[in-house]
Amino acid sequence: MSKRLEATFRGRVLRPGDGDYDTQRAAVNPGLDARPVLVAEAAGPRDVQAAVTWARTTGVPLAVQATGHGTHVPSDGALLLKTSRMAGVLVDPDRRAARAGPGTRWAEVITAAAPFGLAPLSGTAPGVGVAGYTLGGGFGQLSRAFGLAAESLVRADVVTADGSLVTVSRERHPELFWALRGGGGNFGVVTSLEFRLHPVAEVYAGVARFPVERAAEFLARYRDWAPTAPDELSTGVLLGQGRTFTVKVLHIGDGAAARRALRPLWSEPVHEELRAVAYADVKLPALPPFGFGLFDTLPDPVIDGIVVAETQVEIKQWGGALARPVADAGPAGHPTAQFSVSGPGAAEAIGRRGNGGSFLNFLHDPAAVRTAFTPESFRRLRAVKRAYDPDNVFHVNLNIRPEGERDDDRDYRPA
Ligand SMILES: Cc1cc2nc3c(=O)[nH]c(=O)nc-3n(C[C@H](O)[C@H](O)[C@H](O)COP(=O)(O)OP(=O)(O)OC[C@H]3O[C@@H](n4cnc5c(N)ncnc54)[C@H](O)[C@@H]3O)c2cc1C
Repeated sequence: MSKRLEATFRGRVLRPGDGDYDTQRAAVNPGLDARPVLVAEAAGPRDVQAAVTWARTTGVPLAVQATGHGTHVPSDGALLLKTSRMAGVLVDPDRRAARAGPGTRWAEVITAAAPFGLAPLSGTAPGVGVAGYTLGGGFGQLSRAFGLAAESLVRADVVTADGSLVTVSRERHPELFWALRGGGGNFGVVTSLEFRLHPVAEVYAGVARFPVERAAEFLARYRDWAPTAPDELSTGVLLGQGRTFTVKVLHIGDGAAARRALRPLWSEPVHEELRAVAYADVKLPALPPFGFGLFDTLPDPVIDGIVVAETQVEIKQWGGALARPVADAGPAGHPTAQFSVSGPGAAEAIGRRGNGGSFLNFLHDPAAVRTAFTPESFRRLRAVKRAYDPDNVFHVNLNIRPEGERDDDRDYRPA
């Protein structure tokens, strides 16, 4: 069976027992121990086409992986198509744009863009892959100023379920382009992405720690202050770390303006480390996004739950550019959300008091995919899926089933 794939495949094809099989099949989630029948490392778009065609004709399920940061569905019995070798980025400073292969990690893009005073809309972890992150929406430290990474996507080359390689943009395959900006890996294998970069060189960033006894009072003030904060300022709060809680700050601009904007919130931290720093050198703490929930405000019971639980929780500030309408936006946005709450202790602390929405990149449960979208967007995504992948070839993922097929996703509603 594997012989026929190797006949048309330039990259390595690994079987169980082969040297790198175990390292290549690994995902970041330590709970996953998938056993694909083959691991195929694509060397270019033709390999991707060969793998999609091979999976279709043999009926072997196809899974796609770049870095393994967003792999939540095991590829047992599947062909695991790895894109990690298709890495590399080209920056066009005049057009403020970059073009990256599907194996590229954000660290590479940040480094390549920095000499031009530009930055991508990357997230907290530079090791995350550009493709999976962008296709799943992409919420990052610059999103309050510039929106989701998906909305900075300009063009993508995609191998669709029938094995063809198409270029997708606002003008070409517009419905597919819409779906790619948030619908994840459901619509094809992206072989290259072109996206906008943004003028961010130096920022004012860091953390401050406050005594944990002041957490409840601080969070009540934070709830009221956050919607009034300037778009250039992005903050988050990490709790459940012992005697102090942490406030993280990133301001696109100078320290004096940041301090002015933060004044209503600030009161005698026990430790403070805020400074001007190159965006490429920013390292702010973050928790894994378990139990993720979006909130239009932080109700008192949620604040009490977070403070009383004393478990690890991260509150992130949304709003800003994320709350403003974007012409022809993709399906990933949540304009009413002002906060997200997540972390190992989040589910227990917040119960089901969020606004009912989630975000594909922060979702681990394949049965809750529809919660990442409005009902209207979810219907439209299923229609695009029917048009481009009617047999659901791309289903070993956070799956969106084609319109007309039974959809038994749990319909999450807040209590
Ligand atoms: C430590 C950590 C920090 C994170 N921080 C953030 C953050 O700040 N903001 C945020 O928005 N998200 C964040 N995430 C979530 C992350 O963006 C998603 O998990 C994303 O899917 C990772 O993409 P990947 O390519 O690195 O992962 P992979 O596991 O390789 O891929 C994940 C999925 O993406 C799809 N995919 C990947 N490559 C392709 C391709 N070429 N074509 C089609 N589909 C493809 C597939 O469906 C695949 O199953 C974080 C995750 C981790 C583990």
